[in-house]
Amino acid sequence: MEDNNQIKFALYLDNWDFERDDKKTLKNDAVEVTTTEYTPDMKDHIFCPECSVNLFRSPEETDYDSNGRKAFFAHSRKYQPYCSLRVKRAKGKRYDSEELAKKAIDDEELIVVKGFMKDKPIPLNNDNPREYQAGPVEDKDGDLADVPIGRHNGESFSLPSRITTVRGLCRNFNKNIYKYFHLPGRKNAIQLKDLLVDVRSVKGVDDEPKLYYAKVSSSWNCGSTPQNIRQTMFDFPRGEYVDFCLKARDGVSVEHGIDDHSNGKIVIMFGIVTESGIGLSIENVGWGEFAVLPAKYVELLY
Ligand SMILES: [Zn+2]
Repeated sequence: MEDNNQIKFALYLDNWDFERDDKKTLKNDAVEVTTTEYTPDMKDHIFCPECSVNLFRSPEETDYDSNGRKAFFAHSRKYQPYCSLRVKRAKGKRYDSEELAKKAIDDEELIVVKGFMKDKPIPLNNDNPREYQAGPVEDKDGDLADVPIGRHNGESFSLPSRITTVRGLCRNFNKNIYKYFHLPGRKNAIQLKDLLVDVRSVKGVDDEPKLYYAKVSSSWNCGSTPQNIRQTMFDFPRGEYVDFCLKARDGVSVEHGIDDHSNGKIVIMFGIVTESGIGLSIENVGWGEFAVLPAKYVELLY
């Protein structure tokens, strides 16, 4: 995913060869170069800091490509050992003009997300609080937002935005998964399917809010309901961190369908990844920042 797994630096070592030479030599003797430090004479002599396969800079000589994206390092296809840095780079959707971007919004191909609702909306009609149980507000207008998705050097357009909920995304998920979303603070609009990060691939803390998905392995309430935190554990491969969990208030969790008997359910959540003891967690999620994916859509993710 574009913002997620960029190779921050390449290892530059003249005349090193992936098949012939010792990886230890590369790691000991190479110089770290960023995309801005790269010079054309390094071509064919830069390598991945993780898997040691040849890298190339794209574009090779200029700092931005024709879509206005910053130059990046990518793996050569010649050798393909597993590498966590080798991920498909999702292409951001670009528009030729503000009118075309607005049309894409009208056509529901593009959604500019100003934010996800922190709190459950208060019913307008206090005499009839049941109204929201029938159909809670999951989406409302935001302000005009400056969105850098112009084709020409990432020019910004002023576009209507939405304040939405993850639960809203999960409804009609089969359609939403192919729409382009511009998330707060991002430089591009990416299809939802490419924005969703499997927590099993997470290696550590991440300060940039992202949309994550995970399968519940257990869930329990840490105190008296509804205000206490419910801790929901996910399937996660034990590595440097031993587990991965979501912490949200019990009342809100239960309202979203997460209780003591939720094993196997798929949760989608928006947030940052922090350390929690010897594990990782997503905490302080608001009412609109997580949801259980309806079972009929699970096969779209797994
Ligand atoms: Zn690699």
